[in-house]
Amino acid sequence: MSTLALCGGEKTVTAPFPHWPRVEPAEIDAVVEALGKSATDWQYLCSAAGGGPTAEFEQAFAAFMGSPHAMCTSGGGPALHIAVMAAGVQAGDEVICSPYTWGQSVSCVLQQCAIPVFADIDSDTYTLDPVSVESCITEHTRAIVAVHLYGHPAEATALRALADDYGLALIEDCAQATGAALDGQRVGTFGDFGCFSIGDGKQMIGGEGGVLLCRDERGYQLANAFGQHPARQSHQVTDPELRRYMDSLIYTYRIHPLAAVIAMGQLPRLDTMNGERDANHRRLSAGLAGLPGIRPPLVKEGCTHVWHQYSPSFVPEEVEGISRELYVRALAAEGVPLSLGYVRQPIYLRPSFQDKRYFLGRGLPWSLGYRRVDYRRGDCPNAEERCDRLELSLGAGPGWIGDQSELVDQILAAFEKVTGRLDEVRAFAAREA
Ligand SMILES: *Cc1c(COP(=O)(O)O)cnc(C)c1O
Repeated sequence: MSTLALCGGEKTVTAPFPHWPRVEPAEIDAVVEALGKSATDWQYLCSAAGGGPTAEFEQAFAAFMGSPHAMCTSGGGPALHIAVMAAGVQAGDEVICSPYTWGQSVSCVLQQCAIPVFADIDSDTYTLDPVSVESCITEHTRAIVAVHLYGHPAEATALRALADDYGLALIEDCAQATGAALDGQRVGTFGDFGCFSIGDGKQMIGGEGGVLLCRDERGYQLANAFGQHPARQSHQVTDPELRRYMDSLIYTYRIHPLAAVIAMGQLPRLDTMNGERDANHRRLSAGLAGLPGIRPPLVKEGCTHVWHQYSPSFVPEEVEGISRELYVRALAAEGVPLSLGYVRQPIYLRPSFQDKRYFLGRGLPWSLGYRRVDYRRGDCPNAEERCDRLELSLGAGPGWIGDQSELVDQILAAFEKVTGRLDEVRAFAAREA
């Protein structure tokens, strides 16, 4: 076997990495056709009234997911913000969040001037632990935001039951999990609201955009009232009280219709693409199982994982004398896109929370709380340990469609090479020290 790339040898991974996003010729044709139609139908360039290709995609997406209502938005973040508003969360209310996620799972709460309270994650699925969630509920709690992180479903059934027991809203952040399912039910349909992104790094794309699923008519009308143009509200908001407040005092969170056209073309392929992602990532996991220093991510029984990210765990006790940094460096040198992780620091340990200065503000939203909420190291031990010691990220994800076995096998060969020569990695570290 050749020298470790870390020590100047050839790198193992030479296969090209798949490009993402990918737009098929039929989707390009559909966009060109839609632009042509805009000469006679303005709804191909403007979604203010919510008709045309926007409505067509909303109906198809809702039917695909098994939800009564879908509303397109300008992104996953906007979908989350509208969900928090439509859930009735008011300034000063508390919302239970995950500390181990992309920040926008939490910024939607801050944007409503509500107070995030962080529950810990399950160490295997990296999603909210329902037991920890229950321990965070106070008389001021109004909602739970559950994140289907990396494409693995959160404990949606247990969280739904908790929300029902305590009279809370359940909001699902499905931005990394379009098409994922728990016991055959698609994520986004367990909560009062399901928030999706069709941004360029997600399972199906429109370029930019998002979709909000609403479990009931009331939520759908509220979402329209807060996040859509009056031209759309006028025919979708029917509740007399809401109509009284129908106005242009809104968030401009509407989608570009051409994004809906692209997404409409991707939707029929979503399950096939997700199945290919699953096959490629399972091949990787099967090969990594048993190699020292790394543990593949778990896929829980009953879960359809859709692989937005591949996040294995470092196992320091199996590679004594080799730090996580060095392990990553040795593999990265071989051409494996391994990094120290995606989240890296629990949300509540970040400066905005420690200093309580969101967008450099003076204490908002915390100053509006009914009680003092502080954020301390030790609050969520599983999330902290994952960030501090265990988290790894292998740059895989949505692009891994089709057959990627050549690339996967080269990545596995690199892992076998490095883990078969750990003494050389240790010697390298000793020389450097
Ligand atoms: C991408 C993402 C969002 C935001 O979606 P945008 O479309 O970029 O606004 C929110 N939450 C999570 C977990 C995400 O990965």
